[in-house]
Formats: sequence, C-alpha cells, structure tokens
Amino acid sequence: MTKRMMGRVDLHLHTTASDGVLSPSRIVRYAKEKGLKAIAITDHDTIDGNTEALDEGARLSLEVIPGVEISAQFELGSMHILGFFIDIGNRGLNERLSLLQETRAKRNPKMVQKLRELGVEISYDEVFQASGGGQVGRPHFAQVLLKKGYVNTMQEAFDRYLGKGAPAYVHKFRFDPREAMKLIREARGIPVLAHPFTLHLESAHQLNGLLAEMVQLGLMGIEISYPEHTKDQISLYKGLAEKHGLLVTGGSDYHGIETGKVDIGIGSRDMRLSYSMVEAMKEALDLNS
Ligand SMILES: [Zn+2]
Ligand SMILES: [Zn+2]
Repeated sequence: MTKRMMGRVDLHLHTTASDGVLSPSRIVRYAKEKGLKAIAITDHDTIDGNTEALDEGARLSLEVIPGVEISAQFELGSMHILGFFIDIGNRGLNERLSLLQETRAKRNPKMVQKLRELGVEISYDEVFQASGGGQVGRPHFAQVLLKKGYVNTMQEAFDRYLGKGAPAYVHKFRFDPREAMKLIREARGIPVLAHPFTLHLESAHQLNGLLAEMVQLGLMGIEISYPEHTKDQISLYKGLAEKHGLLVTGGSDYHGIETGKVDIGIGSRDMRLSYSMVEAMKEALDLNS
C-alpha cells in the first residue's frame, strides 16, 4: 500500500442539514479529532450541509467529499442511493432536491389535517417541536399522539393512524431509482447503493438481479461496510461488487452521539475503512490527474 492510500475514512455521515445532531462544521471537527483522513457528508435528500463542511475541512486539512443520500421509490423495503463527489452547484440536482423538499413540506400539514378530521387535536407546531427543529417525520407525529394519550405505544400510532394504508397516511414522494442515479451522474457524482440489507430482498439471487438492472441505469458502487451488516452480508456484497464491476464504499451512518450506538469512523465495531476506497472513486472519476 502506498503512503497516499493510508488513513481511515467514513463515507456515510449525517448533519443537522438532515436528521443528524451535529452541524456540518462540528462533524468535520469531530472527524479530525478522531484522526480520520477523509469523510463524506451524506444528508438525506439535501446537499445543504456540504458548503459548510467543505470550508471547515479546508481549514483543518481534512478531506471532505461532497455527497448526498437520496431515498428512492422501492416497493419491498427502503432504497437509499448515496452520491459521492457531486458538484454541489449543479443546477438540475439543486432544482430537483428543492422540489422534493417542497413536496415533502406539504406532506406534514396534510397529515395534521387528516388527523384533525379523525378527531385528533394536533397542531403542526407540536409535531415540529417534537422533531427538535430538524426534518419532521412520522415518528414525531407518533410521539405527539403518545404524549397526548391518543395511543399507548408508538406502534399503535402507526397501526391506527400513520402507517401505510392507515387513515392519516399521506404518500411520501420519492424519486424512482433511475432518476436518483441520473441526478447524481449529471452532477458528475458516483451513485452507490446504500446499506443493501434495507431493501429486504429475500435472496442473494434477487439482489444480483437488481444490481444488474441498476448498473444498466448508472449505478457505480455498493456500500459494503455498514454497522448493521453481518460478516456474511459483507462478503456477499463484496462478491457481487466484483461480479458487477462496482466500487465499494462504507460508513457509519453516524447521526450524532445522542442518537445511537455507532460512532464516527468505527461504526458499531471497528470498521477501519481505508482511504483506498476514496482513491478508487477518484480513479473512476479520473480526478487524480
Ligand atoms: Zn440510509
Ligand atoms: Zn444515512
């Protein structure tokens, strides 16, 4: 291994721009403290945290890879597509992500309205407060319902009101995988399938078929190292990456100390992701020259 390949990285991090707890500059400082060489900022459906992180990274000599994590439409489970090295000034990407935010912003007031029609006294303010000021989602609605005594458990809130098919449910707009990957590619980025286990596919065979289709649509990589991936899953994903000529990435999906058991750079155990992942991406983009 050459010297420039050395150093550890974390290629999956959230900030306050989406549902993370630390601001973009704080996450960069934290990564620096932990001795990481490079990180990627991959907030959900927004690239707003990147500028601040890039500035702080330049100040501290820590490489920040501009990124995003786009939720795509997928019937079985949830499909998230990471984008690395995106041009954050790209117009198409910015416009489509703003449209997504606007559509989402209408969803929550609609759910409040539906709940009120069902006789639940709830205001958007209460839900927003439950979110702590970040992106508002159904768990925050459930918290309010629980607090106000309309339900006894979070699960009951989903079963009776908020779950798919329940009376207060409002469809969540998502891009289809093809468009998510196209947006990333058009912003000169690398689309990577995040944490494949959340797709809830039944077999390796199914994942193999899906990857073949996605590669045709522009997929360039697969996230193999992830706190919840088992050893078997990691080796399966590695094998599929080789088979389909995909880049491999990994990250902790760290959302901040307060929100879970994973930590930056190490995940839930010792991930030790090597900078060679970044080098390989740069080679694919021809950024090394
Ligand atoms: Zn994700
Ligand atoms: Zn994530």
